[in-house]
Amino acid sequence: MKFPIFKTKIEGLNRKFNLLDPKEQKEYFQLKAGKEIEKLRNFLRENTFVAYLLGKKNSGKGTYSKMFAEVILPERIDHFSIGDMVRAIDPELKDEKKKRELINYLEKNYRGRLSLKEIISALKNRNTKTLLPTELILVLFKREMEKREKKTLFIDGFPRELDQIGFSLFFRDLIGHREDQDIFILIDVPEAVIDQRIKYRVICPICQTSRNLKLFPTSKIGYDEEKKEPAPYRAGDSGAGFYLICEKCGVKMEKKEGDELGVEPIRERLKLDGKLIEESFSLYGIPKILLRNSIPIKEAKKFVDDYEITPEYYFEWNEKEKKVKVKERPWVLTDDEGIESYSLLPQPVVVSLIKQMVDVLNL
Ligand SMILES: [Zn+2]
Repeated sequence: MKFPIFKTKIEGLNRKFNLLDPKEQKEYFQLKAGKEIEKLRNFLRENTFVAYLLGKKNSGKGTYSKMFAEVILPERIDHFSIGDMVRAIDPELKDEKKKRELINYLEKNYRGRLSLKEIISALKNRNTKTLLPTELILVLFKREMEKREKKTLFIDGFPRELDQIGFSLFFRDLIGHREDQDIFILIDVPEAVIDQRIKYRVICPICQTSRNLKLFPTSKIGYDEEKKEPAPYRAGDSGAGFYLICEKCGVKMEKKEGDELGVEPIRERLKLDGKLIEESFSLYGIPKILLRNSIPIKEAKKFVDDYEITPEYYFEWNEKEKKVKVKERPWVLTDDEGIESYSLLPQPVVVSLIKQMVDVLNL
């Protein structure tokens, strides 16, 4: 299965954008997809659609759909995560009144193999290994939709298994979006990118904001002079002795235990995710949008601008000034087919999402 490379380069245009700057990002989208943004805005003021995000774990599903919403019409578009929905049930189960309401709803609406007692126990004792039964996910999702105002939806986390793909084809009926266009958004990201996203990920212990030492640092960097080379970083690596400081909370952002293993612990999961994407790719009757994160180095000049490529950040300690210098260099990775590639920043991928969406919706 090959995802096409999307051209975001406009010939004869020499302006450069700093995509980390919100104002420049806005100008960038206006220039690269202004006409399409206007069409989508007009459409979404009156209409809605349902999109399913299909990509491997850590492929950037949330990043892309949230950026799409932000650029087009945030108040009319929801990113809906099935994982978040299930986690939000934990506090309900601890509150007697809310628990009663949940049980009442399930009594009226749930059809499936589990007894109510088994359902509550499945919800309470969830883990990452066993998935909740599809019938239960469907009814919880329906309940959630009934509480909300009808908006355009980007669904993240469904379908998650091969047998759920069939359900997703009728999903819009179940949640009262019967007349909506439904769309599969398939995301292709090399495992090397996912690996580095995990290995260099750090999280603020207070606000849980997630950043990346190598790919998405904060503006404030700290340096531990005592502990120059903590494992697992190599000397000179972007992490050696350096740490990120949360922009909101001002505290040191921390690595999570096990992240140094990268994709190793989730290899099986990634394989299943890949299979899911492949199966969805071959379905008839539902339009598909293909988003591609990487681009072979030898094609890059033709298709994208330099500033659309993800750089690798690294740091140097200036002993005299006692200051951290932030540097960047091109980040070269090997894609799943063994081709030397660059990884695109989210913005050009979202430009391709916007343009393909206009086509799918016939605007
Ligand atoms: Zn924070």
